[in-house]
Amino acid sequence: MSKRQTASAAALPSLPDRGNVLSDVEQLGIGMFWATDAEGRLAFLSQRALTDLGLTAADVIGKPLTQVFSEAEADPDAAHQRGIGFKLKAHSKIEEHVVAIAAANARSPELGTRWWRLNGRPLVDGSGTFLGYRGSALDITSQYARDTQTARHSQVDELTGLANRRKLGQRLTATLAAFRASQRSCALMMLDLDRFKHVNDTMGHPAGDELLKQVAERLKSIIGDSGEVGRLGGDEFQVLLPDMDDRGTLGELANRVVQSLSQPYQVIGRRAIIGTSVGIAIAPYDGVDTDDLTRAADMALYAAKEARGGTFCFFTTGLRDAATKTAKLGERLRDAVDRGDLNLAYQPLVDPATNEVRSFEALLRWHDEQDGPISPADFIPIAENDDLILNIGEMALRQACQDAMQWPDTIQVAVNVSAKQFVRPGFRKTVAAALEASGLAPSRLELEITESVFVGDLEAVDAVFRDLKKLGVRLALDDFGTGYSSLAYLKHGHFDKIKIDQSFVRGCTENGDINPAIISAIVALAKALDMVTVAEGVEAMDELELVRARGADLVQGYVYSPAIRQDAVLSRFADGTMQVKPSGPPRHRAERISIFRKVGLIHEDHYYDVILRNLSKTGARITGLAGVPKGTDVVLDLGHGQLVVSKVANATESSQGLQFETALISDGSGGFMTRHRISPYSLAEAGIPLAALGAGAFPLAKWREGHKSPPTFVQLDLGL
Ligand code: C2E
Ligand code: MG
Ligand code: MG
Repeated sequence: MSKRQTASAAALPSLPDRGNVLSDVEQLGIGMFWATDAEGRLAFLSQRALTDLGLTAADVIGKPLTQVFSEAEADPDAAHQRGIGFKLKAHSKIEEHVVAIAAANARSPELGTRWWRLNGRPLVDGSGTFLGYRGSALDITSQYARDTQTARHSQVDELTGLANRRKLGQRLTATLAAFRASQRSCALMMLDLDRFKHVNDTMGHPAGDELLKQVAERLKSIIGDSGEVGRLGGDEFQVLLPDMDDRGTLGELANRVVQSLSQPYQVIGRRAIIGTSVGIAIAPYDGVDTDDLTRAADMALYAAKEARGGTFCFFTTGLRDAATKTAKLGERLRDAVDRGDLNLAYQPLVDPATNEVRSFEALLRWHDEQDGPISPADFIPIAENDDLILNIGEMALRQACQDAMQWPDTIQVAVNVSAKQFVRPGFRKTVAAALEASGLAPSRLELEITESVFVGDLEAVDAVFRDLKKLGVRLALDDFGTGYSSLAYLKHGHFDKIKIDQSFVRGCTENGDINPAIISAIVALAKALDMVTVAEGVEAMDELELVRARGADLVQGYVYSPAIRQDAVLSRFADGTMQVKPSGPPRHRAERISIFRKVGLIHEDHYYDVILRNLSKTGARITGLAGVPKGTDVVLDLGHGQLVVSKVANATESSQGLQFETALISDGSGGFMTRHRISPYSLAEAGIPLAALGAGAFPLAKWREGHKSPPTFVQLDLGL
């Protein structure tokens, strides 16, 4: 700006003496001028502006600027900028600030709201006294309307370039409508990053943004052209997968997504690790319209997050009930902690070469009056949702140190530490206090930590490790192989011990299993890095033999002993020998989940009620029918459209073992399910209207009404 122009602008308040130049500028519609007094009241507004707005000077002059102009709410940048009122008060420069002027409308409603872009400078006299603002304005109404319109119709998430929420919503609705007519399926995957907030908080928003971009890239490369990836906002992503209802394939895909997104990221020159949880729902089984399907996928996502994060979960109707149950359990847990109802039990870690106990792992035990024993695997995640984990964790530490003082001093005690506990400031102090209160030597205390501590700001995590090392306690990496599985943090030398997760041990003796190779690899790696290895969850004698042969230093599992109470520890080892003899089934048996649930059994065209007693991937045991001969072909109805073609493999008078024609698949949270379900479309064809099918509702019972030939087998009273 030239000196002359500056001088003219500064001369504005001494109006009405306007220069010709300014007048011309205004007349050409290039700009308008405004000025305020030191109190922020409008002292001047170009005549042209007044005319445009259908106002007279009396309407606006002398009024606070903030009353005449209001913030343009829909301005996409509005969220990032300070309000005009704030700037005026702070006497700061006003640059390209978009405001709305509504005052015009009373007199000429047809003009509607106008949008102006303001620029203005604070004016200060020679002695530094603030005199007010001088500024210009440009009417950008037509451009603004176009911009906001574009923003509203935009289909792209600006940060990642992925489809945005609007586009995904439209796409889902259109797909579901079209597929309904052609009876096709469509899966919806909902993703939420685990501990993204932590990265954002500790490393800053630019790092968070960069991370989201990388997540988008990884997702796109996994999904490829089999579906559409989008970002809903924040750290939520969604994947739409048309013509996809095979839960086996979907589970594998979800697993790949989880694995890939949990690999370390390099953002703004630092390393960060996050995880992701995935919820999956499939149309038409879990919902036929956008709302139902989205709600189902959300619920599955919530369940995955609850489970421990870093996993996927399919929607089941059971989830809805489980959510309520979890809330209730949380309340009871709080009471139990207050009453001191939580106890510890100790499971030995044994040297398989000598059968000698080397240490005990402290495991929490809670016996609820209503539900009986509740596993820490169920209540620890609930406690982790709030500060309850801190109380519980501290209690466990103190109690374990105290109890270990009564054991021979060659025996160590291991205490589990939740990631939430570990990263809280003051954790080192808690550990030191527990040691001091009990008098336990630090070298006898081992802390078991899972890979989930390696998230967010790794430098802060490193500092905690160093602090603990200085204290002299030992550190074990628990459940190795289940989590983020990055070998990078092993190299830091934080750990004295690796515990090979049960999932590698259980079933490792089955033919063709890859797990023995994995166990060998972990053992070799640990040896190279001078760490002790533990095989967790050894139950059968053949598994014990295998892990011993593969070089595991220690074994923890039912084959030696489950966790036992302190008094049992003391009496069992009273003679000081500290030896346990292994005992267990000679061979591993395919995992069976014990259940007691009413299910259906279809034989020829009759539908029976039976009780499911246990379930494995390849078979089940049922009771409730008499006189079913071996070799009978039946169809087991596990509910929600899950039909399993089976053969009776063995039978007693009232109980039958079934062998499945096709194996079930894991549901990602410890249970089994069928790969496919019978489609509600086929049920609809059988005369049951699609609209009558709620999420997951499959009224096969209705189907049986129409099939009334005499039963072949005797239906027993199920006693339910
Ligand atoms: P973990 O630390 O991996 O503990 C081992 C789990 O495996 C224990 O389950 C133990 O009872 C079980 N187990 C041991 N041997 C066998 C076997 O041969 N077969 C089978 N099927 N299971 C075996 P538990 O006591 O239910 O604890 C589950 C998890 O809860 C623990 O897994 C640990 O992550 C957590 N937890 C337990 N106590 C605490 C605690 O004091 N603090 C924290 N933060 N977590 C705890
Ligand atoms: Mg443990
Ligand atoms: Mg473990």
